[in-house]
Amino acid sequence: MKVVKYLISTSLLVVFIYFGYTNRNQILATSSKYLGQITQQITKQEIPCSQPITYKIGIFDQRFGISQKDFLFDIEKSASTWDSAWKMSSSTNPGSSSNSTNSTKKPLFEYSPTGDMVINLIYDYRQQATDKLTQLGITIENGRSSYDSLTSEYKTMVTQYNIDKASYETQVNYWNSRGGATPKVFAEITQQKNLLNAHADSINSIITTLNSIANSLNSSVQNYNSIGSSTGQEFNEGEYVQTATSTKIDIYQYSTHTALIRVLEHELGHALGMEHVSDPQAIMYRINQGKSDSLTKADIAELNKVCHSTQNLK
Ligand SMILES: [Zn+2]
Repeated sequence: MKVVKYLISTSLLVVFIYFGYTNRNQILATSSKYLGQITQQITKQEIPCSQPITYKIGIFDQRFGISQKDFLFDIEKSASTWDSAWKMSSSTNPGSSSNSTNSTKKPLFEYSPTGDMVINLIYDYRQQATDKLTQLGITIENGRSSYDSLTSEYKTMVTQYNIDKASYETQVNYWNSRGGATPKVFAEITQQKNLLNAHADSINSIITTLNSIANSLNSSVQNYNSIGSSTGQEFNEGEYVQTATSTKIDIYQYSTHTALIRVLEHELGHALGMEHVSDPQAIMYRINQGKSDSLTKADIAELNKVCHSTQNLK
């Protein structure tokens, strides 16, 4: 057995060496590309805020109803919120006698058509639910009180839905027992069925939103099952995703312009390396529930904590 193993590993080694030799240029080019990217990542991670994070727009879905130019403008506005706070902060340097002057600070973010970080605006069931509720005159805000008022809205709608559904089923059973309906009655019943389906869609949108709030509240609130087809996926308004060689921000949902700016600011904060803070009004709070797009003291403290390690490494 040992000899066989030895033979197998030796032949595999020969194959690898041969393959490696014949493709050496490609392998060298690929590895230097990845090494370059990884070095870039390490530099950014170890010396945060020292170089601007360059970004570009990736996926852009027009169903959000804003132009790509407006979206870029909103990203720039969100980035400048962090930039201003960073430039305003005095960067005292422990262990050194000199303070770095604010004018030497580079911006934290910079737009570039070939930027490293991709920012996507992705339309799916989340924004669809939000748009549906907007049509019903319901503006979504996160947080417990919004959850409670939406729950009572949901209960009213479900009660009405069940009454309409029972009435529809009674009629269908009646006409079936008589061997079928007249064309006029059939048309009326079909209309009722369509209304019932539309009603179920609205209820499902509320359920999607309720579950999203429940998810972010992460507490004892109830998760609801949708009527008909399920959309019970995890809900995030946005997320920052970092891999060994790439970074991206995906934005999925917002109900107001301020909420969009806040979610952009929040994810840009994560891109800088910031964690969540405990102030419920802060941009870096885990739930997007504040009313203002300005940073709170807790946000600025977190920014300074993350960025000032730069000064220590200089
Ligand atoms: Zn977050």
